[in-house]
Amino acid sequence: MSEFSEVRSDFDEYIIPTYSPAPFIPVRGVGSTIFDQQGKEYIDFAGGIAVNALGHGHPAIKETLIAQSDKLCHMGNGYTNEPVLALAKKLVKHTFADKVFFCNSGAEANEAALKLARKYALDNYGSQKNEVIAFKSAFHGRTLFTVTAGGQPKYSQDFAPLPSGISHVEFNDLTAVANVINDNTCAVIVEPIQGEGGVIPASVAFLTGLRALCDKHNAMLIFDEVQTGVGRTGFLYAYMQYGVVPDVLSTAKALGGGFPIGGILTTDKFAGTFSPGTHGTTYGGNPLATAVAGTVFSIIADPLFLAEVTKKHDYYIQALNRLNTDYGLFKVIRSAGLLIGCELADEHQGNAKTITNLAAEEGLIALIAGPNVIRFAPALNISQAEMDLGLHRFEAAIKRYLEA
Ligand SMILES: *Cc1c(COP(=O)(O)O)cnc(C)c1O
Repeated sequence: MSEFSEVRSDFDEYIIPTYSPAPFIPVRGVGSTIFDQQGKEYIDFAGGIAVNALGHGHPAIKETLIAQSDKLCHMGNGYTNEPVLALAKKLVKHTFADKVFFCNSGAEANEAALKLARKYALDNYGSQKNEVIAFKSAFHGRTLFTVTAGGQPKYSQDFAPLPSGISHVEFNDLTAVANVINDNTCAVIVEPIQGEGGVIPASVAFLTGLRALCDKHNAMLIFDEVQTGVGRTGFLYAYMQYGVVPDVLSTAKALGGGFPIGGILTTDKFAGTFSPGTHGTTYGGNPLATAVAGTVFSIIADPLFLAEVTKKHDYYIQALNRLNTDYGLFKVIRSAGLLIGCELADEHQGNAKTITNLAAEEGLIALIAGPNVIRFAPALNISQAEMDLGLHRFEAAIKRYLEA
């Protein structure tokens, strides 16, 4: 008999097994430190998969939740509300966008972006302009349209028939895009830095070239910034670092700091394609979600906050390079701000999960991005002490892995 009324084995008994969660159950966190049911403490380098940008238990998020839930949690989109308007104004003020649509997740944001592209092309050029170009190893979410746009057939093939008109080309290969793009292309969807695909940054030339090809063929350029957005790279959005402006940008994950919210940003040129009734979602833009996102966004949009992200990035990279000098575990370390991917050297391929499991035993929560990449996406405000302790535990896990 366990002393807890909910235990890990309940997952296997009661939850549809789309995941295979860790053996322990986290119950509370403060900053980037987590505690499980047994009271064991972990340093969190995963940040809820790039979601908990302000860590756990952030007082401003808590205060916003309490204050807004005291006023109004949900009304439905027959009414607008103050928090959604305030958040939209902030996003427009700080980005290329003129207008915003809110939903509840990254997949829904990309779904909205792709639907916008199809309808814009239909309205302006005719039904033959419906083709979408996407990239191998890309990840855009799990709805049928977005999982088909994603570049990992193993995630989509069992759900056929799939939406048609989507082709996949090699990421960072502009010639490959030039060979398939044509006047029937309605959109190109791309992650400026492939996250799930292994933390692989696009080259500046690639994104610049995509912009030019889209302009030439009147195709919408969609940046999926669900993982790279809201300060993750040390810039508010990654497109700012590249100096390439998309037509539509999807955002989610860190935007709510843990509260589910997503959205797309676009310009007036495209926004009018959606009129009342053409697209929607019950929860999208609800006052509770947008109040929290407004608080999170204001904290992260501060240039001083973003500068700290870059400093923390430099610290991580120095420390990881040092570890690699000592242990030679990685082939390459790729990074953009606090999105960091350590690709295992050839003789260690396939062992990323083994190493993150050992890390958890040592008291460090880390992510993988495919079988060969250990990924860190910690809270953007992780403390120096937490970084040091987490890196120390990472080293302990590496030692154990190499000694095994
Ligand atoms: C996580 C992610 C998504 C999907 O977001 P959900 O909120 O899980 O639907 C889409 N695109 C990218 C780049 C992501 O990292």
